[in-house]
Amino acid sequence: MRFDIMTLFPDMVNNILGESIIGRAQKSGAVEINLYNIRDYSEDKHRRVDDTPYGGGKGMLMMAPPIYNCYSAILEDQKSAGFEPEMRRVIYMSPAGKVLNQKKAEELSKYDNIIILCGHYEGVDRRIIDEIVDEEVSIGDFVLTGGEVPAAILVDCVSRLLPGVLSDPECYEKESISSGMLEYPQYTRPYEFHGVKVPDVLISGHHANIDKWREESARELTERNRPDLLEK
Ligand code: SAM
Repeated sequence: MRFDIMTLFPDMVNNILGESIIGRAQKSGAVEINLYNIRDYSEDKHRRVDDTPYGGGKGMLMMAPPIYNCYSAILEDQKSAGFEPEMRRVIYMSPAGKVLNQKKAEELSKYDNIIILCGHYEGVDRRIIDEIVDEEVSIGDFVLTGGEVPAAILVDCVSRLLPGVLSDPECYEKESISSGMLEYPQYTRPYEFHGVKVPDVLISGHHANIDKWREESARELTERNRPDLLEK
C-alpha cells in the first residue's frame, strides 16, 4: 500500500508515523508513506498557500491551485516510479466527513494507493474537494487545528491491517472493536502490583476456563463502556 500525504506540516505527520511499528513497516517495505509539502507547489513568489474567504468571515482558507499542483505532482511521481494502482482513493481529512471506524479502515486497506489531503486554518477551497477528493473522513466529532494528526491516525489504523505490518493477524482480530466487543482485561508481570494479584484463572493453565473468563470479562466491559456495540 502506498500512501501519499499532502500537508503544510510534513514533520508533524512524520514524527508520528516514522516511529515504532509503522516506522518499521516503512523500512521493511510493507507500507510506503510519501509526504508532500503543499507549500512547495505554490505559484506565489512568497510561497503563499492561503487567503481570506470570499463573502467574509474569520480565518484563512487554503487555496486550490497549490493543492492541485501538489496532487498532479503525486500522480506524475507515481507514473515515473512505474506505480499504477488498480484501486486509488483520495481522502480529505475533515470534521465534516463521515466518522472513521474499524469497518472503514478495513475497507480502505483493500486499496493500493491512498492520497490524503490535510487541511489547516479554516480548511480548503471547496472547489479542490469537488475536483479531486473521493471522500471526506473525520476522526471524530470535534475540531482540530489541522488534518495532520487525523491523517496519521488513518494511516496507522489502515496500515496495521496490511500483510507484514503486525507479526500476527490475530493481534487485531481479537482486539476491541474488530471483534465486535471491547477486549478483555490483560495482565503481565509482576504477579502482584500494589497488593492486587493477577486473576487465578489466568495462571491455572486451563485454556477453556481462560477463554470463558475472557469472554465474560469482555462482555461485562462492553456492557459498561460501550453498550451500543452489543446492540449492533
Ligand atoms: N472550518 C472547518 C469546518 O468547520 O469544517 C474546520 C477547519 S479545521 C480548524 C482545520 C483542518 O483540520 C480541517 O481542514 C481538517 O483537515 C482538519 N480537521 C479538524 N478536525 C478534524 C476531524 N475531526 N477529523 C478530520 N480532520 C479534521
